[in-house]
Amino acid sequence: MASIGPRPKILFVEDELSISEPFAQALRREGFDPTVAGTAAKALDLAQNQEFDIVLLDLTLPDGDGRDVCRELRRGSDVPIVMLTARGTETDKIVGLELGADDYVVKPFAGGEVIARIRAILRRSGRQADHNGETEQPPSTIGGLEIDPAARRVQLNGQELDLARKEFDLLAELVRHAGRVVSREDLMARVWDENWFGSTKTLDVHIGWLRRKLDDDPNDPTFIHTVRGVGFRFSAPEELAP
Ligand code: CA
Repeated sequence: MASIGPRPKILFVEDELSISEPFAQALRREGFDPTVAGTAAKALDLAQNQEFDIVLLDLTLPDGDGRDVCRELRRGSDVPIVMLTARGTETDKIVGLELGADDYVVKPFAGGEVIARIRAILRRSGRQADHNGETEQPPSTIGGLEIDPAARRVQLNGQELDLARKEFDLLAELVRHAGRVVSREDLMARVWDENWFGSTKTLDVHIGWLRRKLDDDPNDPTFIHTVRGVGFRFSAPEELAP
C-alpha cells in the first residue's frame, strides 16, 4: 500500500478541462499533489510508473471507458479509486463498485464534498495499513472457511474463493464478530467509511455476492444470517467448526 506523505498524490483522470483545471487547483490549495490524465492510456501509463494514494476516475474518456481503466488498475493495485460520472443510475453505481471502486461521485459535484470524501478514504486506508501492521492477524478457520487476513485469501473447504476487496472486508468483519449481530450501520462504517452516503442497497448487493460465492442460501443460510431491521450475523455450523 502506498504510504501517505504530507501531500497525498492523486491521479486525476478527467478529459474535460473545464472540470480538471479548476478542481486540480482546488486540490493543490487543499494540500494534495494531483496529476491530471486526460485519456485512459495516459492514466494507465502513469499508474504503472508512479505510486498514487488515490485515483479519481472519470467514466467517459475519449479513448475508452473508465470502468475498463478501473478493472486494469485493480489488477495490479490496491489504490483507492473514486469514480466520477455523469451517469447516476443504481446499476452504473453497482457496476463501478463491483469493479473495485471505493466510492462514486455523480457530476456535477461540489469540490468541497469530494475533497471531504477523499480525506475520509485516505484516513481509512491509512488506518487499515496501521492496523494490519500492528496486529498481523493470523489465519483463522471457521466452519470450513479459512481466512487469511494478511494475504487477503479465503478458502472454503479447501477451494480458493475469488472475492473482491469489499467482499473480503465484509466477510472478515462478520467473521471477526462471529456469533454476534453486526449492525448495518457498523458494517457500512467499517467496510466503506463513515462518510459513505450511497444507498445502503450497496451493502445488500455485496452481501448477495458474498452469499453466492459462499454458496449460502439466503432463505436457509449456513453462514450469513439476516437479522431483520438490525444487520447480519455470521455463524458456522457446529459440526463443521474446528
Ligand atoms: Ca469525460
